[in-house]
Amino acid sequence: MSKKIQLPVQKNDEVELKIHDLNHEAMGVGRYEGYTLFVKDALPGEVVKAKVLKTKKNFGYAKVLEILEQSPARMKPPCPIFARCGGCQLQHLAYEEQLKYKEQLVKNDLERIGGLDLNKVNVYPVIGMEKPWRYRNKTQVPIGEEEGGLIGGFYRPRSHDIIDMEACLIQHEQHDQVIQKVKEIGTRLGIPAYNEDKHSGLLRHVVAKYGFATGQLMIVLVTNGEHIPAKNKLVDELVSAFPNLKSIVQNINTKRTNVIFGDESKVLWGEPYIYDKIGDIRFAISARSFFQVNPVQTQVLYEKAMAYADLEGHETVIDAYCGIGTISLFLAQKAKQVLGVEVVPEAVADAKRNARLNGMTNVQFAVGEAEKIIPWWRAQGIKADVIVVDPPRKGCDGSLLKTIIEMKPERVVYISCNPSTLARDIKILEAGGFETREVQPVDMFPHTSHVEVAAKLVVTYSHHLR
Ligand code: SAH
Repeated sequence: MSKKIQLPVQKNDEVELKIHDLNHEAMGVGRYEGYTLFVKDALPGEVVKAKVLKTKKNFGYAKVLEILEQSPARMKPPCPIFARCGGCQLQHLAYEEQLKYKEQLVKNDLERIGGLDLNKVNVYPVIGMEKPWRYRNKTQVPIGEEEGGLIGGFYRPRSHDIIDMEACLIQHEQHDQVIQKVKEIGTRLGIPAYNEDKHSGLLRHVVAKYGFATGQLMIVLVTNGEHIPAKNKLVDELVSAFPNLKSIVQNINTKRTNVIFGDESKVLWGEPYIYDKIGDIRFAISARSFFQVNPVQTQVLYEKAMAYADLEGHETVIDAYCGIGTISLFLAQKAKQVLGVEVVPEAVADAKRNARLNGMTNVQFAVGEAEKIIPWWRAQGIKADVIVVDPPRKGCDGSLLKTIIEMKPERVVYISCNPSTLARDIKILEAGGFETREVQPVDMFPHTSHVEVAAKLVVTYSHHLR
């Protein structure tokens, strides 16, 4: 028989709390009689009256009813829908403090999960943006319908309710105009929005991509089915509204799924790509391929990756999880050769095209899982001087880490969008004979709780001799 544990608080209780920290999702952390409560919108140093929303065995969630003592770092969020929209988490915190929060997040993970001694590793302050607004080059918003017509905006946190928006202050201005225009034209021409519950209707998402270096614009309309009523009129109006438009793509997704894109894409007007640049390298970006969303900070991050790779020109570099080859091409400027591996075939096709576009012949790309392809390369006798990994949020596959340990490259450059899995993987690499030397967090996503990190690990001398 299980005994029901008596918690110090219950749902709907109102409690007074001192907030002492922010968790990974940027919620305030407070303790009530030893029991941890996560309080949305509360900041460290504040005392709040909060209402308990949900309790679990070890922690619960609460919302602020009243701020009794306010933090001096509290800001008035410039966005009018900040409180409802799930896009940003930190607009109420001064930007300098956001950077400190992210630095602490990275340090805590490296210490607690990674087991690193922070007296021996240089973990630098987060590199922030001079202008931390309007930084995103890609926006994808779900479309819905209300009485007045089409609406579009991000979801309310933990829901699929669309919060209609007129402007989003972290995306490029033109994306606002695109979303407004599609809503306006679509409403006028009677193009129905997709209804997720009924799996009916047509327009699911509008995606806008903008090349910061080139000024080129792409609009992608994701539809539940092929036929778009008044399609030509829609296309004509978009073309005349945006003189820098280079591409309109329709992507068809008829599945019941949260995944935005379907498998089939059709160019409705213009080219299948837009171009953008990072440093001196040009990239063709297609509707579905992944491209870093913050071009200003991407350059900062890649320059860090380049410095950590410490290339002299004679090296063989492996770029695992290479996407459309952005890091590979960046490093190929200084390496003898770069081998990239990526699991999505379209991304590899883009990577190869991007290599040709830049006239780079010292890069090769393979389609497949990094954890399968790299051991195969090793069996062919390939030796890597530097291995770069840039995995998705779940981090590197365990067998890939094992292969890296066996291959003993001089240096590993680990690019991560999730400090917890970075720390977990660093622990394994350290146990396998590598030493973490430098860690540089970069703020790619101001006003959200996310942080990007570049870490440099070197093979230890004794491991190298083995
Ligand atoms: N380095 C790229 C992309 C990083 S995103 C850039 O900076 O733009 C992570 C990439 O890893 C995605 O493109 C994803 O498709 C790919 N990926 C995910 N699992 C993989 C695996 N097991 N092996 C190889 N690539 C993988």
